[in-house]
Amino acid sequence: MENSRDYSDATKSVHAGVGMNEHLAVVPPIYQTSTFKFHDSDHGASLFAGKEKGFIYSRMLNPTVLAFEDAVAELERGHKGIACASGMAATHTIFTALLDQGDHVICSKAVYGPTTTLLSEIFSKFGVETTFIDTSDIAAVKEAVKPNTKLIYVETPGNPTLVISDIAGIAEIACDVGVKLAVDNTFMSPVLQKPLDLGADIVMHSLTKFINGHADVVGGVVVVKDERMYQIMRRALNHTGGMLAPFDAFLVHRGLKTLAIRMKTHCLNGQKIAEFLEAHPKVNWTSYPGLPSHPQYEIAKKQMSGFGGMIAFGLKGGLESGKILMDNVHLLQLAVSLGGVETLIQHPASMTHAIMKKEARESAGISDGLVRISVGIEDVDELIQDLKQALDMI
Ligand SMILES: *Cc1c(COP(=O)(O)O)cnc(C)c1O
Repeated sequence: MENSRDYSDATKSVHAGVGMNEHLAVVPPIYQTSTFKFHDSDHGASLFAGKEKGFIYSRMLNPTVLAFEDAVAELERGHKGIACASGMAATHTIFTALLDQGDHVICSKAVYGPTTTLLSEIFSKFGVETTFIDTSDIAAVKEAVKPNTKLIYVETPGNPTLVISDIAGIAEIACDVGVKLAVDNTFMSPVLQKPLDLGADIVMHSLTKFINGHADVVGGVVVVKDERMYQIMRRALNHTGGMLAPFDAFLVHRGLKTLAIRMKTHCLNGQKIAEFLEAHPKVNWTSYPGLPSHPQYEIAKKQMSGFGGMIAFGLKGGLESGKILMDNVHLLQLAVSLGGVETLIQHPASMTHAIMKKEARESAGISDGLVRISVGIEDVDELIQDLKQALDMI
């Protein structure tokens, strides 16, 4: 879509990203090809030298993937996107592109588990050091900066407690000390939060979640602000090889068309279910950015245009209550992942984190009664009815 920077997100979701589409297809076609022909040797040389626009090899760039990258970049109000094989491939691209041996990273403590592992077990092998802190505490971010800090990596709202970090506040610190700020915007999608507008340098998403929204693709994307950063990221991805496949790009692009309308329903349903849980006698606490009881409710209102579909809550009775709830829901599905049209429920202490010791879980912010719901777009009263009957079994 040309000159579309001023359109609303609902319009952009539907129309953004036509890529290089010579036949004017309404939907960018799937270029299921690994490589592209050159007219002659001069053409090949000019493509490789970057003098002419075109395609060479699908690890480097593919028209179907490019159309999708353009669409996400428009929604994030960034310069360009780089689509990756998974959210972790996107995070890995950011780290490989920006970090050198001896560099220091500041990362949110409440962050997607594999992101912690990538820094503390993989990048540490190459001499990159990370400090994990509570990035909702601005003073702590400032204090954690070292002379060799290169990157601040923030997830907000963060896993699993939905703690919220002030993006503009952290961007100011990053700018003052001359380090880059990257934000994992997966929980919000570009429709509910625009980190680049708030001063971040880089945004990443797991496409697997809200952007695709249909639980049928694993993918990721990085969005950057300028051509220099784009070239750095593209080069890193091209040489590590974790790009998104054309067919997956087509599916995610199809999902993107309904992103704005889906997010509206995720927000409406999320708010209603959070209010239901907060008032329920078997629930100790409920963490949802749209509840005035959320510790960063004011920041949430300032930097988010909706509160999303992710809820964390604590059950009275801990582990046993969690198991009973899991075993008695019918409409809510027991599964990890999030952001799809279907509502998913997960109890870390008895499922994903069951092999960890209780103390280790608790130091990671996961109490025995913690339950996470990714609220889908089903009828909200039917979802509440299902939760209610399962809670009654406790
Ligand atoms: C799922 C997720 C990731 C990783 O994405 P994958 O597509 O599973 O690799 C990163 N960050 C957040 C917040 C996520 O929810």
